[in-house]
Amino acid sequence: MSKVTYFSGETFPLEMHKVRIIQKLTLLPIEERLRAIEEAGYNTFLLQNKDVFLDMLTDSGVNAMSDRQQAAMLTADDAYAGSATFARLHAKLNDFFGTRYFLPAHQGRAAEHILAKHFVKPGTLVATNYHFTTTKQHITALGGEVVELVDHAGVEVVSDNRFKGNVDVAAFERLVAERGAANFAFFRMEAGTNLIGGQPYSLANLRAVSEICHREGIPLVMDASLLADNLYFIKTREPECADWDIHDIVLAMANLCDVIYFSARKLGFGRGGGIVTNDQALYEQMRAWVPMYEGFLTYGGMSVREMEAITVGLDETLDEDMINQGPLFIAHFVTEMDKRGIPVVTPPGGLGAHVDAMRFLDHVDQRQYPSGALAAAVYLASGVRGMERGTLSEQREPDGSERISDMELLRLALPRRVFTLSQIQYAVDRIFWLYSNRQIVGGLKWVEEPEILRFFYGRLTPVGDWQHELVAKFREDFGDSL
Ligand SMILES: *Cc1c(COP(=O)(O)O)cnc(C)c1O
Repeated sequence: MSKVTYFSGETFPLEMHKVRIIQKLTLLPIEERLRAIEEAGYNTFLLQNKDVFLDMLTDSGVNAMSDRQQAAMLTADDAYAGSATFARLHAKLNDFFGTRYFLPAHQGRAAEHILAKHFVKPGTLVATNYHFTTTKQHITALGGEVVELVDHAGVEVVSDNRFKGNVDVAAFERLVAERGAANFAFFRMEAGTNLIGGQPYSLANLRAVSEICHREGIPLVMDASLLADNLYFIKTREPECADWDIHDIVLAMANLCDVIYFSARKLGFGRGGGIVTNDQALYEQMRAWVPMYEGFLTYGGMSVREMEAITVGLDETLDEDMINQGPLFIAHFVTEMDKRGIPVVTPPGGLGAHVDAMRFLDHVDQRQYPSGALAAAVYLASGVRGMERGTLSEQREPDGSERISDMELLRLALPRRVFTLSQIQYAVDRIFWLYSNRQIVGGLKWVEEPEILRFFYGRLTPVGDWQHELVAKFREDFGDSL
């Protein structure tokens, strides 16, 4: 909650920081945006950043650093082994999570790689509130199976459930009874559940999952990449924690888990990642993989400058005035779209605003990738780059058939401390225009479909010729405007 109320009775977020370094942006005319998206195979991952006005693809590694982070980078101690920088980061993580052991990795998915190598054997299963793309790939590549146990509210687009990332605890009990605890590689609790709209889970739910895990001897692993948002939501939405210090919430969560891993491209506003635990044996067993895949144990593929930035960034994560910026701006973005009738995921989560492509483009079949088409159309309409999170982001089933996604979302991520309210207002305006002309937009089909993580670098083309019709309508409505 913004701590400032306004005389006018309006509500809008207020930053508790000022901007002291800027980067100029360009907004290309729509005809050039059409050329750019065609060159990118209608895949926003393949756009060149120079052709993008507002980059809302992700919040990974693109959050703005603070003056204190930049200053800390200058004090980095560069050594292959045993640098003071690593010791500072390690000490900070021990303090932050209340843990003892830390394995550095170059980013979140590298930590997932090491965890999967350690825990996953062919035929084992990983239960999770909801899967994440890279995590699932690591698990299935080693012959493991991923089972999602998110409470049904998690996959309802419109909801007033404040913890849509919660696990259906009864379903977890049933799964243990059916499959046997010994067949679980681990349970994965993803904070700020990414693929269903950055939705949090409650401390109470984590406690319930932890109880079952510990009773049954199933290791509980937390993906803390999006922890900052989840902390803010626990603080503001879970009555038990309303008066708690943010750090006490972190410690209570960490204490319920056996292993925690994170992408420091998100947590800590830097670039890197790692695994922490209090289990010495586990630490020693996983340790072997770090020098093999990541780098020596005191950097794990991270630069010392980034490690210094993360150390300070973790401190800032415990400051409510710092971690509220993302959720408050996202809530504003979602509310402004909702007011105009644009279908969005509610309640607003962390990470970004999520547009419901299933309803926005309800005339496009899921086999023609409505959220992919919407991502391309929003880029055309505005120069804003979002990310498809729907059927296109799924892997095909082993028999080659499509795995149809529960939700078709266009994610418009808000990197922390990067965009202004007027830029968000512009995005809302153009998306509203597109919504008013949504019948023009059709689906996409493959030109080149890679077998693995196809959404990253696959190329597509429109079904029909809707892109040209959209450009013509834009010119008719906006004249010479960019
Ligand atoms: C981004 C993300 C990852 C992967 O982290 P990278 O640093 O991008 O490899 C894993 N889990 C979640 C929940 C994420 O949001």
